[in-house]
Parts: sequence; C-alpha cells; structure tokens
Amino acid sequence: MTLIVHKYGGTSLGTAERIQAVAERVIETKKQGHQVVVVVSAMSGETNRLLSLAESVTKTPSPRELDVLLSTGEQVTIALLTMALKEKKCDAVSYTGGQVCIQTDSAHSKARITNIEVERVQKELQQGKVVVVAGFQGVDEHGNITTLGRGGSDTTAVAMATALNAKECRIYTDVDGVYTADPRIVKNAQRLSSLTYEEMLEMASLGSKVLQTRAVEFAGKYNINLRVLSSFEEGPGTLITKEDEIMEAALISGIAHNSDEAKLTVIGVPDKPGIASHILNPIAEANIEVDMIVQNVGLNNSTDFTFTVHRNDYGKAMLILKKTAKDINATDVIGDNKIVKISVVGVGMRSHAGVASTIFKALADKKINIKMISTSEIKVSVVIDEKYLESGVRTLHMAFGLGTE
Ligand code: ADP
Ligand code: ASP
Ligand code: MG
Repeated sequence: MTLIVHKYGGTSLGTAERIQAVAERVIETKKQGHQVVVVVSAMSGETNRLLSLAESVTKTPSPRELDVLLSTGEQVTIALLTMALKEKKCDAVSYTGGQVCIQTDSAHSKARITNIEVERVQKELQQGKVVVVAGFQGVDEHGNITTLGRGGSDTTAVAMATALNAKECRIYTDVDGVYTADPRIVKNAQRLSSLTYEEMLEMASLGSKVLQTRAVEFAGKYNINLRVLSSFEEGPGTLITKEDEIMEAALISGIAHNSDEAKLTVIGVPDKPGIASHILNPIAEANIEVDMIVQNVGLNNSTDFTFTVHRNDYGKAMLILKKTAKDINATDVIGDNKIVKISVVGVGMRSHAGVASTIFKALADKKINIKMISTSEIKVSVVIDEKYLESGVRTLHMAFGLGTE
C-alpha cells in the first residue's frame, strides 16, 4: 500500500467548515487505497496572535517559553481535524511533534530536524488509521519543545514523507500551485505545471513564501516528489521534482520578491586585507545573517562596503557597525531599511545570455533605480526602493513574457 502525506496550511483550516472540508479530502485519498499521514499548521492568524500575546507580556520572551507557546496553535488543529475524521467514521489519531519523536537541535524558533522515529506512526497506519501530526514543532535531546521557523509545517511534512518513504508529499494551501510571481501582486501570474527543486529553492529563499526553504532543501536532498495544490478546489497543482524529469525547462520560471531586507554601508573603509572580515565578524557574532555583499573598487586607498540583513536586525546591525567604523577608521555608516529585493529565477539562464541586460533595461524604462545587484547561475537579484516593489515585480514579469494579457 502506498503512503501519501498531506499538509494543510492555516487558511485551509481557518474555520470549522474548512476543517470538515479537509477531513473529506483526507477520506477521499484514503478511499483511493492509500495510507495517509496529515500534517497541519495552526489556524490562520493563530501563530501571529500568540506572538503578540507574548509581546504584550514581555519584549524579550525566553526562547524556550516562546516555543512552548507557539506550538499550541498546531495542537488545536490536530485535535479538531482528528475529531472531524472520527465523526465521519474514519479512524484517526493525533500526535504532537514530541509524541512522534520529531527530534531537533536546540535552536529555539529555528530548530532543524535531526531524526524522526517512525515506528509508532507505522503501527497506527498498519491498523488502518489516518495519522494527524502537528507541524512546525519538535523536541530537542533534553525534551524541550522547539519550533522550526515560520512556515515550518511544510518542513515537517517533507520530513515525515522522507522518514516514511511516502510516494508523494502534497502541500495543500490557498493557491492552486506555484505561480510565476506572487498572485497577490501580479494578477496575471501563471501557474507553473512543474519546476525543479533548484528553482523552487531559489524562489523560496528569495522570498516566495509559498513553501518554506528548508522543506524544498529536504525534498531535493531525498528526492521527494512535492506537489503544491489548492485545498479549496480540484486541480493538478505544481509538481516540484528533479530537473531531468521536466521535459522542457523555461528560460525563466518566476519572479520572487523579499520585502524583509535592509541595507547598510560603511563609507571610507581603508582598503587593506582583512577589512571585510573585520566588518562582518561582529555581525556574525551577534547572530545576524548577511545576505548580499558588495565592495566597491578601492580609490585613494579607501573603499565602501555594503551588505543587506533582515529588516528586524537593522537597528542592531547599525549599532555594531558604528562601533566597528570607529575601530577601523572608516568615515561613516549609512543605511536604508526601505528597500526590497526582486529576483528573476530560471535554470534556463545557464545557457542563455542577456537575462541581466533585459532586467536592467526594463527597470530603466520605468525609471526604477537599481541600488544593488547580485547573480548566481540560475538567478539575478536587484535591490530597489520599497515604493517600486509592485511596479518592479510586474515590470519584470512582463519583460520575460510570463503573464497572459
Ligand atoms: P499556508 O498557510 O497554506 O502555508 P502560505 O501563506 O504560507 O500558505 O503560502 C501561500 C501564499 O504564498 C499564497 O497565498 C501567495 O500569496 C504566496 N506566494 C508568494 N509567492 C508565490 C508564488 N510564486 N506562487 C504561489 N504563491 C505565492
Ligand atoms: N503556524 C506556523 C506559522 O504560522 C507554521 C506554519 O504555518 O507552517 O508560521
Ligand atoms: Mg506556509
């Protein structure tokens, strides 16, 4: 008997009616002769509500207690969905992450899964039950509850699919697949029928939050067929798979955007060996992740050094840099937290020249100024002013012919 993992996001479980609809869909898959494991998120808005509750008590919650709090959202939905399944005469059982031994490291709020013990789940499946597992959570080696980062239920689903050797992992959400751009911004974005792990990984890490980046990483590593589908309507969705299983790769598969970034520049840095590490070491020590880095060509033995960080880390990074600037005799530190990053992604880029120049021309025609550029084999990213986010995404979507008129 084949096993299929379903995952439902918050909007798909937002009301009692939606939970009933999810139960019907699970029963349908079961009736087709499959074993089913269901991974669920908290009801829509619940994780945010819990976060603001914590904030109303303290500005600096203990990371351990914050995870204890946030993990409750998913405990509600596993129980409700299991009740709904039982009500419909489908035998089912719910489990928290800890109960099915989703082992993680101890990095609260961004824990990584290290191991899953599947015996208990397998036994239940063999008895004909649907197993409903809480997404987004695990336990560390000391038994502390951990969470996997926002959107982490996607990763729970892929990890369960891997551990149980599932045939397919279906991510049911509020869109009917992965689109050429966020459909909330580009109305004529197109659903992609398939794309490679690599492309989806770039899209996700560059800001397309339809899937958590780690989930795609996991799926690619273990070759899990991942399908993104709507929980509201029937349809083929989008298959994310290996490159050689995709008949004809498009030049560009999509446009991603990320509005969570901020940039900082140290001006007048003495141009000598060791300076980049001098600037970035204290940033890394403060646990601040750096994304794009640009260092200008030195002139008169001095240079400018610019990098981007998550917008939440902007204030902290600025304080650190001001101190560093003094230590290394730099002239000044300036910053901008009203920027966004837009990226064009596609494996076809490897064998085609001219993608970057198409981007630059399209943005120039709209008088959108580019502040930073970075490229890799299958993506080109630009940083622009936040006010051009929507027009920038739409312009590039059009420039690569991704939408229908
Ligand atoms: P869930 O609660 O089901 O996990 P998410 O909100 O995490 O759902 O992800 C679905 C959302 O991702 C969509 O509503 C859409 O606005 C957004 N999104 C961003 N980029 C894309 C894209 N390229 N294709 C599809 N959806 C996207
Ligand atoms: N409930 C968590 C969140 O809102 C996890 C998830 O939805 O995947 O981020
Ligand atoms: Mg999500």
